[in-house]
Amino acid sequence: MGTSASACELRFRPGQFISINVGTDGDGNPILRSYSIASPPERRGELSLILRLVEGGVGSRFFDGLRSGDAISFTGPMGFFVNELSHAGDIVYVATGTGIAPILPMIEEVLRRNEPGRVLLFWGLRREADLFGQDELAALSARHPRFACHVYLSQPQGFYRLRGRVIGPVLELLPSLREPTFYLCGNGQMIEELKAALIDRGVSRKRQIRSEAFFD
Ligand SMILES: Cc1cc2nc3c(=O)[nH]c(=O)nc-3n(C[C@H](O)[C@H](O)[C@H](O)COP(=O)(O)OP(=O)(O)OC[C@H]3O[C@@H](n4cnc5c(N)ncnc54)[C@H](O)[C@@H]3O)c2cc1C
Repeated sequence: MGTSASACELRFRPGQFISINVGTDGDGNPILRSYSIASPPERRGELSLILRLVEGGVGSRFFDGLRSGDAISFTGPMGFFVNELSHAGDIVYVATGTGIAPILPMIEEVLRRNEPGRVLLFWGLRREADLFGQDELAALSARHPRFACHVYLSQPQGFYRLRGRVIGPVLELLPSLREPTFYLCGNGQMIEELKAALIDRGVSRKRQIRSEAFFD
């Protein structure tokens, strides 16, 4: 689900997040939840978020109760999950679910640069009903020949060409990549599993892998 909010001039880098005040606990302390900014900084005065509402979650209940025009309070932008200032080789973004949020503006940022490598997105979702933003991604690939997007469904309900998790296809591609940098975002388990497999195959954790886990 997407939502957008008016904001004063905020400076941020694609990939950063904000911390939203979603309520108060029994002792009157604020309850905070983090959300990545899904829009590019160039869209001044507006921040877009991509939200998954989870059953019974405090943050999810807060968003569910919001009405158009309601004010929210947040701190940030903050975070270090941002593009390197330059890339000598290929760039591989791997997202699960709403982990796509910070990656969308990060991809837009690198595609504006004059860099030599390929820009590849692997995005894992559960089923057809979870799909969104496919037309925008297709338009981006049509405009930028160095960008390619592969969307996998782990539990498709009908026929879907790319089935299964994203980890296998990323590892299969590894030998053909040139000096790759990996950006992993979303489900913490996917991130840990893929990171371990990449390191096992000689990828440098420090120089070549950046990640942001939304939850364990
Ligand atoms: C840096 C950072 C950026 C984040 N950006 C986003 C974002 O752009 N969009 C977004 O929807 N969430 C994002 N999250 C997760 C978000 O902060 C909350 O955890 C989420 O909204 C659930 O909060 P809750 O209070 O409703 O439920 P909680 O009670 O806090 O969580 C319930 C359970 O839901 C699961 N869960 C949490 N987040 C997700 C999710 N995104 N998808 C599937 N299952 C989840 C976890 O298993 C968690 O234990 C981000 C987290 C971090 C740390």
